[in-house]
Amino acid sequence: RAPPDGDAAIRATDSDAALARLSAVQKQYLADPFIRHFVPRAHLQPPRPPLINVGTYVRAEGIDKLVDQWLSLAEQEGTDCQIVSLGAGSDTRFWRISSGPRKASLKAYVELDFPEVTMKKAMAIRKSKDLSAVLGSPDEVRLASGGMALHAPTYHLIPADLRKPPSEIFPPLAGLLSPSHPTLLLFECVLVYMSSAASAAVIQWFVDYFSTPSSSDGGCGVLGGIVYEMFGLEDSFGRVMKANLQARNVSLPGAEPYQTAQSLPSRFLQHGFTMSNALTLRDIRRAYVDPAEQERISHLEMLDEIEELELVLAHYAITWGVKLPRESAALQAKW
Ligand code: SAM
Repeated sequence: RAPPDGDAAIRATDSDAALARLSAVQKQYLADPFIRHFVPRAHLQPPRPPLINVGTYVRAEGIDKLVDQWLSLAEQEGTDCQIVSLGAGSDTRFWRISSGPRKASLKAYVELDFPEVTMKKAMAIRKSKDLSAVLGSPDEVRLASGGMALHAPTYHLIPADLRKPPSEIFPPLAGLLSPSHPTLLLFECVLVYMSSAASAAVIQWFVDYFSTPSSSDGGCGVLGGIVYEMFGLEDSFGRVMKANLQARNVSLPGAEPYQTAQSLPSRFLQHGFTMSNALTLRDIRRAYVDPAEQERISHLEMLDEIEELELVLAHYAITWGVKLPRESAALQAKW
């Protein structure tokens, strides 16, 4: 079979991410009752190798912890907050937050992806009672843009090619997001598929939007961002990872040469963010996974290749940053 065209190959990476998550759930690394609704014939899917399951676990734990802290800090500050997930694919985070203890502070959750992906997601949502029930009563949920978009009171699914100029794709967000509420941007495994210029234009659009005082209360919201990505693909191991993707026709224009964990925060700092940090998945696994959890997951499956696991995990990082409109917010020091 001929490899799919470039964009189809990029969209197919969403199925990989969803299958990896499903596998980690089936093997009890993670708890997520929603992911099976996004994977066709979920019960027939074979599990992924232990190394992938552990990687998926560390990535999910790291990002979940940051998002949870963000929501809890917003809760402490007594403000509602908003989340925008770019290249959201089949992510289940909205459903997990909305059925968990932090749902009260979530005012808006927006997901963007290619139209083919959002259409598939909208159909999966309509088909599943479990997914639909979380969105609100049926009369509050509507499809739009010929089934490629879906709107509910808190949740919005919007088709967009993020490589296009922001002035073409983001205006619909202005009606959904208040510039005075703390807002978290999620880029989970997506920026590597776009040029650095396109990624920077996306982040800058949000910086500008959240620097413009809200017409209703005159305030500007705190802007946060989380990026999960591969990096350091020039060493021998990285070259193998890159070649595997390229063999499937996935191009990686965003894979910047010679990025290090230390240089990753420039993603945010170049846009005037107040602070930014990055950690590799290897460091997160070594130092930030709770020992009781380490013990629990070590019993789930046999994993002999610790060295290989560390090599893989050292090529993935989570970078997070925050941009404060003024010095008052507590987020900077705590996150
Ligand atoms: N963020 C999800 C997660 O972590 O499970 C999905 C990750 S998947 C590896 C990458 C996603 O980014 C795919 O759903 C793909 O369609 C989306 N994507 C990549 N380039 C995009 C673009 N230019 N515009 C919109 N979506 C894009």
